[in-house]
Amino acid sequence: MKMKKPILLSTPHIGDRELEFVKEAFDTNWIAPVGPHIDAFEEEFCQVTGANYAAALASGTAALHLALQLVGIERGDEVFCSTLTFAASANPIVYLGAKPVFIDSDRTSWNMNPELLQEALEKRARIGKLPKAVIVVHLYGQSADIDPILKACNQYDIPLIEDAAEALGATYKGRSPGTFGRIGIYSFNGNKIITTSGGGMLVSPEEQLVAKARFLATQARDPAPHYQHSEIGYNYRLSNVSAGIGRGQLRVLKERVASRQRNFRSYASTLGILPGIEFMPEANYGCATRWLTCLTIDPKAFGADREQVRLALAAQQIESRPVWKPLHLQPVFAECECFGGAVAENLFTQGLCLPSGSNLTDQDLERVIDEIIAVHYVSRKTEPLLIF
Ligand SMILES: *Cc1c(COP(=O)(O)O)cnc(C)c1O
Repeated sequence: MKMKKPILLSTPHIGDRELEFVKEAFDTNWIAPVGPHIDAFEEEFCQVTGANYAAALASGTAALHLALQLVGIERGDEVFCSTLTFAASANPIVYLGAKPVFIDSDRTSWNMNPELLQEALEKRARIGKLPKAVIVVHLYGQSADIDPILKACNQYDIPLIEDAAEALGATYKGRSPGTFGRIGIYSFNGNKIITTSGGGMLVSPEEQLVAKARFLATQARDPAPHYQHSEIGYNYRLSNVSAGIGRGQLRVLKERVASRQRNFRSYASTLGILPGIEFMPEANYGCATRWLTCLTIDPKAFGADREQVRLALAAQQIESRPVWKPLHLQPVFAECECFGGAVAENLFTQGLCLPSGSNLTDQDLERVIDEIIAVHYVSRKTEPLLIF
C-alpha cells in the first residue's frame, strides 16, 4: 500500500529571493555573525514592523534572555508571564535565577487576561512584592489586548516585554504587536511564519537598549584593541547567511500571512458548522495572522474528543498538536504561582492546532477537513435519530 503524503503542522516556505541573498553572502565571503545582510535585515525589519531599533539574534529565546537582562532582572526577582504558551517564553526567566509567576488567559483572545493581570499587580502591590517585569505572549498569530496590559504595567512602573514570536504580521489597532512594550522579541524558527532556519529579533523604542543587546550578544567586548571584558557576554548574534534568508522571507511576509488566513477560512467555513467545534476567536482590536489555525472540540457535542481527533489525523499521516500545555501545569514549573489557570487548562484539554503552513495545497486542506468530518460522523453512526 502506498503511504499517504505526510501533512505537517507548519513547515518552512522559501520564496524566490532567499537563495540570491545567501549567494551574495557566499560570493562576498560574509559567512560570519557580522555583515551587510544583518544590518539590512534589521533595517528592513524595522520598516515592516514599525519598530524603532532592532538587533538580529540567534533565536527568539536568546532575544528574550537578553531582554530580561536588559530590563534588570536578577536572581530572586519575580517575572509575570502568560501561562498559555511555549516553555521558551518563561525559560529565560529561570536562566537569570528569577522566578516566573503565571497569568491565565482570556476566553475571548486566548491571550493574557488584562483584568487578571491588573488584579494580580494590585494584590502584589499591597504586600510590597511587585514583579520586576511582565512578559505578555501574543499567541498563535493574535495580539493580546495590549493597551490595558500596558496601562497596568505603567501604573506600577513595571517594564513590559512582548513575546511576539508567533505574531509577526499581526496587528493591534493598526500597529505591530512587539512594538508597544519596552522590548519586543520575534522568532524565525523553522515553524514560524517566516524563518531564517533559526533566528530571532529584539526590538525596542530605546536605541541604547538595542545597542546594549548587540554588545551582550557579541561576547560583551569592551572597545579595546585586545580582548577586554567588564561584563559577561553571550554568543547570540545571527549569522550573515541566515540574515540573507531573513531578507528574502521578509519580502514574502504579506503573502505568507494571506495564505495562513486562507487556510483558516477553509477550515472555518467547513468545520465551523460541526457541533462542538469553535475556532480561536478573533478580537476586534486587530488582525490575526492565523499562524496556526486552532480550534476547541467539545467532546459531548462533537462526539469525539481532541485526542481522538488528533490520533485519527495521525493515522492519515496528518500532524496536528494539542494547544500549548499551560506552563503552570508543566513539571518544571510546578512550584510556580499562577493567577487563575482554568481557562488555559480548558483550552489545553479541548484545543487542537491544525496543519497551517503557507505551503499547504487545497488537496492537503481537503484531506484534513474530510478526516475531521469523518471522525464526527463515525462517532454519530450509532445515533438512533440519524435521519439520512
Ligand atoms: C517559538 C517561540 C519562542 C522561541 O523562539 P526560538 O526562536 O525558537 O528560540 C518563544 N516564544 C514563543 C511563544 C514561541 O512560539
